[in-house]
Amino acid sequence: MSVTLCDKCAGLCCRYLALPIEKPTAKGDFDDIRWYLAHEGISVFVEDSDWYINVASRCKYLNRDNLCDIYEQRPRICRGYKDENCDFHGGDYGYELYFSSIEELDEYLENKGKKKKK
Ligand code: SF4
Repeated sequence: MSVTLCDKCAGLCCRYLALPIEKPTAKGDFDDIRWYLAHEGISVFVEDSDWYINVASRCKYLNRDNLCDIYEQRPRICRGYKDENCDFHGGDYGYELYFSSIEELDEYLENKGKKKKK
């Protein structure tokens, strides 16, 4: 019997949702992101130059065995997940930027400011 990736599923993709946000350009835009990051379970990342807010939130339909209780009726975003883009492949998501706190964003902005001054 062959083992597939799904046999090792830990339901990783069912524990968060990521939504696109406007790319920040002005000081006020970055301050809005600081506000997002002040909240528990929120991170912001950049992938392929697009900005996203990530909300850590376990799906209500992920059962104790890491299986979907509404598999046949799961939303299309869930149906779009394939082996190739499975989160189980681990760690490296290819983010260009990742912020999990106000401090990380402030440090990024500070370094960005230093680069501009040179
Ligand atoms: S609906 Fe099912 S597949 Fe979609 S996130 Fe919830 S548990 Fe996962």
